[in-house]
Formats: sequence, C-alpha cells, structure tokens
Amino acid sequence: MRKGLLRAVKRVVIKIGSRVLTDSDGALDMAVIGRICDEIAVLRQQGFEVIVVSSGAIAAGRSELGLMDKLRTIPHKQAAAAVGQTRLMMAYENSLAHNSLKAAQVLLTSEDLGSRQRFLNARATLDALLGFGIIPIINENDTVVVDEIKFGDNDNLSALVTNVAEAHLLLILTDIEGFYSADPNIDPDATLIPLIKGITREVERAAGGSGSKVGTGGMATKVAAAKKAGKNGVATIMVSGKRSGIIVAALQGQEVGTLFLPSDIGLNRRKHWIAYTLKPSGKITVDDGARNALLKKGKSLLPSGVVQVEGRFERGACVRVCGVDGIEFARGLSDYSSAESGRLVGCKSSEIDGILGYHYGDVIIHRDNMVIL
Ligand code: GLU
Repeated sequence: MRKGLLRAVKRVVIKIGSRVLTDSDGALDMAVIGRICDEIAVLRQQGFEVIVVSSGAIAAGRSELGLMDKLRTIPHKQAAAAVGQTRLMMAYENSLAHNSLKAAQVLLTSEDLGSRQRFLNARATLDALLGFGIIPIINENDTVVVDEIKFGDNDNLSALVTNVAEAHLLLILTDIEGFYSADPNIDPDATLIPLIKGITREVERAAGGSGSKVGTGGMATKVAAAKKAGKNGVATIMVSGKRSGIIVAALQGQEVGTLFLPSDIGLNRRKHWIAYTLKPSGKITVDDGARNALLKKGKSLLPSGVVQVEGRFERGACVRVCGVDGIEFARGLSDYSSAESGRLVGCKSSEIDGILGYHYGDVIIHRDNMVIL
C-alpha cells in the first residue's frame, strides 16, 4: 500500500524537530544534520524534490549563548533564535555542500501566509528554488513573531507548507518511532501503530499534550499537522529522525513509523488556506435554520440567519461561524465588515441596500468562501 501511495509522490516536505537536531547537551548535533543531508541527497538523485522545515534555532542559540536555563522571556527566546538560525543554516549549508547541494533560507510568519499575495509569492519562490535544484530550509521568523501571529509550532508550519508548496507528502522526523497506542514513556504496553486511516477523536485523545523540553511540539501537534495536511489530500509519515537511513526507507515505501492517510475528500487549496492558515478575527453566530442550510444543503450564509456578530473585522476577513450552542462548525470570508454585518443581523437580503445605503451582494459569506469544519 505504501509503495502505491509513494509512486505519486514527487515533492516532499521534511519536518525536522529540535529534539532530532540536538544532542544531549542541547547543542546542534552535526553528525545527525550531516546524515540527514546525505539522505536528502539520495532523495534528490531518486528524483524527489525536497523542502525542509527545520526547528532548532532557539536550541542552537541557547547553547551558543550558554543560556541553558535563562530563556524565560519571549525576547530572550527571539534573541536565541536570531543567534541560532545562522548556526543552523551554516550546518545545513556545510552538510549539503558535501553532497554538492545548496541550501536557501526561507523564514515565514503566519501573517505572511495569511495574505494571499504573500502566500502566492512564497509559492513562486519555492518553485523557483526547487527549479534551481536548491533545498529550501524553512523556519518560522522567530525574531518578529509574538504569540498571536505565531504558527504555534513547526509541526503546524510544515502542514501549511505542504499547501504553499503543493507538496505530495509530509515526512515528520521526531524522536520516537512513530505514533503509539499510548505514551510509550509511561505505558509499557504501548504499541506502534503503522497505519492511521483517519484521524478520529480517539487518535487525537491518544496523542495527548506536548511533553517536550526542547521545541514546542509534541505528539498532539504532530497529529494535528497530519490532519491538516490530510485535509489537503496529503499523506503524512512520522518516523524517528534519530535512525540512520530512515528518510530514504520511508520514501521507498518501507513499513517504517506511522503513515497517516489523507482524508477522502481533500479540501481544495484555497479552502484549506481559509480553514487553517488564516486567523479568524471575528465570530458570527447563526440560528438553527441557517446552520442546517450550511451544513446539509450547501448554502451560503444569508443575513437572515445571523443572530450575533462579535469581534472587529473588515470586509474579506476570516470569521468563525458558530451555532447558538457556541460551537464553531464553519469558517469563511465575510463579504461585510463587523460593523456592517452587525447592522444586517436578521434582515432579508433585499433589505441590505436600504439599511447600509449600498450592498456587496446578498450573502454574508458566500459558499465558495466557506469551509465546513
Ligand atoms: N522556530 C523554533 C526554532 O527554530 C522551533 C519551533 C518548534 O519547534 O515548533 O527553534
């Protein structure tokens, strides 16, 4: 089964976590980086296009500055990332150069990918780099981000990059063999699960929370990343990056680690961007009739079904759509700003012009700009 799936893979995003890249002292592990780059070179020879999403900047900076326990504030972490990012890139450059390959640094923020124009610019740049045979090494631009505009973690970033780069596979390198039935550090009966056909609530529950001291992710964020990539029709393979030969083995279709199959109905890429890349800036609560029309009948959201508008947003912003129970069930781009939508609550579409003195159309959120979650 894996071999069949991999036959369709040409472009792969490899996400490498801090725990893979650092040694027991928390410094960059040059031997591991060297081995990973050797394997990337093998993939290139086999005709794969490779994009790397690499963590390790903060860890490298922390060790370089000798600040093992002192990174308490965000500016301290950002300073460490700024120091470490150059070390990280140097390590990749040197190790790739051994294999006659070149690296390029790409630093992104969530706001970058939230702008459709910048998103498309990033896509075009990645395409050009791959066209030159260069290995893009992507990280979050840690210097300029604070929590609200962060990707959260590089697992999330890697899933978004599969969409930006129109990649066919996400390979997550972490420090355990794959996805286990329970936490193998706690439960001796935990078994490795080679195939996850769908990311159900049980799978998410088994993934638990983050347990890492270096890096921000954990099993939960990896499963969330696999789910996001899967919504885009992209499969994820999670393996231990500490194992030699694992990258090549995974791409050959050997039964290593855990394969997460994509969901059957992949969202198209624009809808994926709406659902997962954009940060919602408001909330629209709708009545049961409208909820039903959106969920079951594939309709657009009309002002008549809106009961409340919260938050401040401009026309075109991404908003959460919630039922009266408060549960979000859809997300979309609003055709009206929060101020305008607030005035249109409960009205008929034919009344919009009379209320606002102008109108942008009959709907608050058009079906084409909406994703059911
Ligand atoms: N961007 C961070 C770094 O390079 C890592 C974030 C993460 O591991 O999720 O250190």
